[in-house]
Amino acid sequence: MQVERVEAGGDLLRITARTGDDAPVACPGCGQTADWVHSRYVRHVADETVGGRSVVIDLSVRRLYCENADCQKATFVEQVPGLTRRYQRRTPAAQTMVDAVAVALAGSAGARLLSVLHHALTWASVLNCLMRITLPDRPAPRVLGIDEFALRKGHHYATILVDAATGERIEVLPDRKAQTVTAWLQAHPGVEVVCRDGAGGFAQATTAADPTIVQVGDRWHLWHGLAETVLKEEAPTVPAGPRPAHR
Ligand SMILES: [Zn+2]
Repeated sequence: MQVERVEAGGDLLRITARTGDDAPVACPGCGQTADWVHSRYVRHVADETVGGRSVVIDLSVRRLYCENADCQKATFVEQVPGLTRRYQRRTPAAQTMVDAVAVALAGSAGARLLSVLHHALTWASVLNCLMRITLPDRPAPRVLGIDEFALRKGHHYATILVDAATGERIEVLPDRKAQTVTAWLQAHPGVEVVCRDGAGGFAQATTAADPTIVQVGDRWHLWHGLAETVLKEEAPTVPAGPRPAHR
């Protein structure tokens, strides 16, 4: 990388740079090194802010020929480690920061914080970043908590799965249908205990997936059921007789 120019103006720092002319590059298709240059073009990559200024790197990169006759790629664009990734308009460091904000705040709030941090993104772009993050592949927990929650009360419900031992969120399923839960349990073997509400849906779903899974009522629903029953039983014992007079 050669830095050719650095210009600071207003709230923008613009860096003009180019990759070297001769360095051979490994083809991403076959791994064979190539140094026959097809052409150059300029990529605009946003980097982390410096001194309160947005940073844009205008980076001239090479398109190279792959000379391996067995390779699918006729040409490819070189990437600069730590600076460019295929199809990305941000450096990995800047993308990590944007992703962290997206995870914490999602669309609108994320966009507002990022504009303070000198990264202008629309809420839709922040959501796109959020949706592109690949989730870590977690093993199914031994004790799984299942419950429904309302996305819009009375209209649209989803199901949340948590590790009942640690409280860690595992997955959100798009509805509360038994077959959706069954399919998840079948795709994620290893659950030994399901902790659920008292209704029949999740019980059926669990039995359908694996009848050897032990099913227990979760604490919230046990207390809720107990409290409702006690209130019902207590209702007739309202004291009779004259009420105390108000002043
Ligand atoms: Zn190749």
